Amino acid sequence: MKVTVARPTGLCFGVRRAISELENALENVGKIYGLGSPIHNPQEIERLEKLGLVVVKDPADIPPGQPAFIRAHGVSPEVRASLLRRTDRIVDGTCPFVRNVQEKAALLRQEGYRLVIVGDASHPEVQGIMGYAGEGARVVGNASEISPDARNGKIGLVCQTTQKVSLLEKVVRGLLTHTEELRVFNTICGATLERQQAVMDLAPRVDGMIVIGGKNSANTGKLVEISREAGVSTLWIEHYEELDGGWVREKENIGIAAGASTPEWLIRQLISTLESARSPRGMD
Ligand code: SF4
Repeated sequence: MKVTVARPTGLCFGVRRAISELENALENVGKIYGLGSPIHNPQEIERLEKLGLVVVKDPADIPPGQPAFIRAHGVSPEVRASLLRRTDRIVDGTCPFVRNVQEKAALLRQEGYRLVIVGDASHPEVQGIMGYAGEGARVVGNASEISPDARNGKIGLVCQTTQKVSLLEKVVRGLLTHTEELRVFNTICGATLERQQAVMDLAPRVDGMIVIGGKNSANTGKLVEISREAGVSTLWIEHYEELDGGWVREKENIGIAAGASTPEWLIRQLISTLESARSPRGMD
């Protein structure tokens, strides 16, 4: 059995940067309140909690004056203001690429465009961007969700950083038909595009793909979709212990891809488990 890892794969610049800022801060102050999970990976959260991270859902859950952490997904201006009312000790891990989407949304709003955000309305990054997008903004997660009135007037479009280009293209086509003016910022981040392309390139060369990453990670889910759309039998796991031994034994060429929030130690564990499966008694 041959094992090939997609390149690039795993932790992206933004998540790596945010986690390293969080680790530095934890080393200095011992305990930090993170607003939402700082990384969509349960195993990594467990490790950070042991270092002193406390994950909370609401700024009101942070004891006054205690240090708080904003994750790579960023927050809306309203949430930032609530945080500042709680504490002035904020470590801001917002990814610069997410910050760019927020700024583009604010610019379009200021210039009189009605905003369409291509993305998943329930995702924290999109909720943060919505706070900059102004009244009448809407989130579109599927080209079929474009209602006739969404096409009227001046439309400004930005995209969640981890979306697939194919969805952005479909939404742009759907809006173009009846819109007087359409201004589009392609805000899908380079790290996402490179990781998606790496899966597309690897898929035709393998007979099975393992995508490792949190089940709550949007970008990992996109890699799974891309691999399945390429017709490859695909397993989505969070941890090597979820491997299906029968599935592995049937394969001759296995590809590995990891979401932008999957730490390297989890990928290494998976590779060594697959390597041990090459031995006659492997994965019994
Ligand atoms: S996927 Fe892109 S936008 Fe999101 S955190 Fe990583 S580098 Fe930043």
